[in-house]
Amino acid sequence: MVLNYMNKYIEEIEKCIECKICDDVCPTYLATNNELEIPRNRLKIAVKIFNEEKISDAEYKSIYSCTKCEMCDLNCSSEISISKIIGKARESLFSQGYELLPGHKNLRDGILKRKNSTKGDPKHLLDYLPDNFEYDKDSTTLYYAGCLSGYFLKSISTTSVRILNKIGTSFKVMKDEICCGSPLVDLGDIESAKRFFKENLEIFEKNNVKELIVSCSGCYRSFVEFYPEIIGKTIPITHIVDIIADAIKQNKIQFKKTDKKVIYHDPCHLGREFQIYDSPRQILEAATKNLVEFEKHHDDATCCGADSTARAGSKDMAVKVALKRVDKAVEKADILVTACPFCVFNLNYARRKNDRNIKVQYITEFLNDLLD
Ligand code: SF4
Ligand code: SF4
Repeated sequence: MVLNYMNKYIEEIEKCIECKICDDVCPTYLATNNELEIPRNRLKIAVKIFNEEKISDAEYKSIYSCTKCEMCDLNCSSEISISKIIGKARESLFSQGYELLPGHKNLRDGILKRKNSTKGDPKHLLDYLPDNFEYDKDSTTLYYAGCLSGYFLKSISTTSVRILNKIGTSFKVMKDEICCGSPLVDLGDIESAKRFFKENLEIFEKNNVKELIVSCSGCYRSFVEFYPEIIGKTIPITHIVDIIADAIKQNKIQFKKTDKKVIYHDPCHLGREFQIYDSPRQILEAATKNLVEFEKHHDDATCCGADSTARAGSKDMAVKVALKRVDKAVEKADILVTACPFCVFNLNYARRKNDRNIKVQYITEFLNDLLD
């Protein structure tokens, strides 16, 4: 049975004029040459899914290997919301009872069991705090570390809170933090996501939290886009790059300028989606004499390959996409800086596994070395 809202998406897909422009912009297809990953072909698979026709394992995988980078949306001649439709196809697959890919099952099970996406032990979340770190326990602003930077890439959170303190921002941290729920949306499990959204907002209310500061672009997207869309409410949120850029303008923080060549990678969920392009560049201009750009940057920036749970399901694809981005950076720079923990993780993994000579850092890790 095709639900009404699915019909809406089928009608939108029918606007495709097969111009093939999307073939040339999809990072996953360009990295793998798998024709099922061409955006217009993913749309054809989505139609089958909405009509509840059987799809092959390879077709299933191509729906989940999309990073929802929105590059196809931006370039589509018929202005089809391709990435959104792919997300709806995942919802449909999940509700039809298709079994998740092993990496995705593992991810979902971990989130449902431990309430974070990295299998971290909640008792150790605040281990990221620097020694003898003091924060304002009465603040109504929470530094929300997020799963990846809270449990796994801890130096992102360590350097983030250190810089917030240096600026003089009032904030607190919280051991009761749980996953924002965005991976569940990306897996198509909307009912579980709703439970996490509601629980998060209840925890914030109980702890007198009125606004968030985040380092993670995935968490940012979740609170700005998914919460209002799915449960009709959210909490005010600021990405840390906007706070640091403001502080630089107000002379609240200074950095030594490095001579190294630094290149900035725009995370899809900060750049194309929310147009946060200026703040990271203003920050980097204050901390390097040599800021360079990728050939493809701002709206044209290529995805790192990890987003929207794509890496958890299709690691080889994700690493191939990342390596292409790393190789472009190596041509121009000594340090590759970005503002999303997932980008840091995947780009750094591709660099390390392939012996590329470049440092990959989250923006606060980079700044921490240059604090005046
Ligand atoms: S959103 Fe990105 S990865 Fe997904 S189909 Fe479009 S261009 Fe490809
Ligand atoms: S760019 Fe849009 S209209 Fe053109 S082939 Fe791709 S999906 Fe179809």
